Amino acid sequence: MKKSVPIIEGLFEWPSENPRLIATRCPLCGSMQFPKSSVCNNPDCDHSVPVEQCYLSTEGTLYTYTVHAYSLREPFEYHKGPYIVGAVELPEGLIVVGRIKVEDEKMLKIGMKMRLKVDKLYEDNENIYLSYFFEPVVEG
Ligand SMILES: [Zn+2]
Repeated sequence: MKKSVPIIEGLFEWPSENPRLIATRCPLCGSMQFPKSSVCNNPDCDHSVPVEQCYLSTEGTLYTYTVHAYSLREPFEYHKGPYIVGAVELPEGLIVVGRIKVEDEKMLKIGMKMRLKVDKLYEDNENIYLSYFFEPVVEG
């Protein structure tokens, strides 16, 4: 049986029933970074305290999006055009860029509620490679 593995370690909690994105927060200035970083990236911070790992909210609002018609070349050939890349603003104030999962791009509206979803990006003979996506929260 194929194993489900994150495409990149440390982007999101895995294995998990409700995975969250993994970020870092500077205890000194409060700056947050995703993906996690080993140092605070605030140029006004004196960086005297190590950053701490934290987790991001799994829901936010669609800040913007674009449709990529272009298929990437190896080793990123699993990004086959057309696909949608969006930016989702989270309650923490971070804007996170990721692939958008939606049946029809016409469903997307700036400001709509989006939720995190960890799902298959591609697979080979051994593994199923997972990434994080955002999808619209369908209400009602
Ligand atoms: Zn800082």
